[in-house]
Amino acid sequence: MPGGRKKSRTYQRREIPRDQHTVSRSVISEPAKKVLHRLNKSGFEAYLVGGGVRDILLGGKPKDFDIATNATPEEVHDLFRNSRLIGRRFRIVHVVFGREVIEVTTFRGNANDADNDAADDDRKTSEHGLLLRDNVYGSQEEDALRRDFTVNALYYCIRDFTVIDFANGIEDLRNRQIRLIGDPETRYREDPVRMLRAIRFAAKLDFNIEPDTEAPIRELAPLLTHIPAARLFDEVLKLFSAGQGEKTYDLLKDYGLLAPLFPETVRALDAGASDELIRQALRNTDARIAQGKSVTPYFLFAAMLWPALQAEWQRRQDNGDPVQPALHGAIGKVIGRQVQATSIPKRFSGPMKEIWELQMRLPRRQGKRAFATMTHPRFRAAYDFLLVREAAGELEPGLGQWWTEFQQADERGQERMLSQLSTDAPKKRRRRRKPVKRQTPQ
Ligand code: ATP
Ligand code: MG
Repeated sequence: MPGGRKKSRTYQRREIPRDQHTVSRSVISEPAKKVLHRLNKSGFEAYLVGGGVRDILLGGKPKDFDIATNATPEEVHDLFRNSRLIGRRFRIVHVVFGREVIEVTTFRGNANDADNDAADDDRKTSEHGLLLRDNVYGSQEEDALRRDFTVNALYYCIRDFTVIDFANGIEDLRNRQIRLIGDPETRYREDPVRMLRAIRFAAKLDFNIEPDTEAPIRELAPLLTHIPAARLFDEVLKLFSAGQGEKTYDLLKDYGLLAPLFPETVRALDAGASDELIRQALRNTDARIAQGKSVTPYFLFAAMLWPALQAEWQRRQDNGDPVQPALHGAIGKVIGRQVQATSIPKRFSGPMKEIWELQMRLPRRQGKRAFATMTHPRFRAAYDFLLVREAAGELEPGLGQWWTEFQQADERGQERMLSQLSTDAPKKRRRRRKPVKRQTPQ
């Protein structure tokens, strides 16, 4: 390895008996238990692994359950009618119980032999050290050591209720540390997404990133540009849906990981744009998640790209484009560039555009316009976005409040608000017209 990095620590298998850990069967979902039991009964080894064990040990509630087994994907598939084989890079089995999906993976081997194995068809690495395919099966210990972080390599056995620790994960869990298994640089080169995962877990679990694990990130961050845009889109959603969005954003920025995800945003910020709207939106998102509400990807992306959109919108107006065509041109350009970094499925990019376009319609309320705007399918999201802009100090407060009241008012109240508007309008029009043009894109 470059610079002869110090060799990874040696690991020893440890078994933690049931009376010395907090994993109890009652917090494991019925479907997960069913899969574990059936695999065991059919003579296979099967363990709960990954986030499921980690989050229970931390006293939390896992959002999903992953299972590792020595059964091959085909054997698992044969055991469960409600299962499907998926994946190419990793062949795994999804066992489906209504809305709950249990992910079952077969023990994988050769964690530290990427170089020697380049010729092996089942385990391929690219010239950058990127792991392209990883379907060599192995022992449980090998499986543990090819996982990303020590705290993600803990196994729970439902037969004897022990937790099995191959990489000092328990110790790192106790010290609240995210530590890569093996040589960090090699592991990041194999899969640069591990850098994002380090940030995600550090923010979500409120852990530190251990110094050797942290050290190579800034330098290797650009490797993320080799990752397929669709995978990065998924990772962005995971990063910002874990309830610690603002903290995650700060960490991504600190480690140089925001640029490969949102290159246009970083460019706008470097040129002096404010990120207060992004922060405000992420604070809102975090509050929503804390209340058990969901976050919509299009709202998130509308906010993350807003500084870039504004910069481009302004640039076009400075070049003489009228405000509306400038906005449309800017939307096309910003989205076009973004999808090269992280894809944005059409079902999200459409609503995202609408949120942006509605920002221009929300101030125009005279006559029937307010009613028309309110029936737009994206009105609610656009109104929320307006409130975020106001809270971020981007707009004079007032318009958001007007819309809040307008939605709550009865028909007569609404008429009154509108006629109030038209009596105000002639006076204001003169003063307003020019600043409005400039102010909207800021
Ligand atoms: P959560 O589900 O809460 O996001 P998790 O740790 O379960 O966290 P998953 O993405 O569900 O994360 O992955 C399950 C497990 O698979 C991880 O705990 C880890 O052991 C392993 N794993 C996932 N992604 C990678 C990766 N890129 N490199 C190595 N191991 C990985
Ligand atoms: Mg998981």
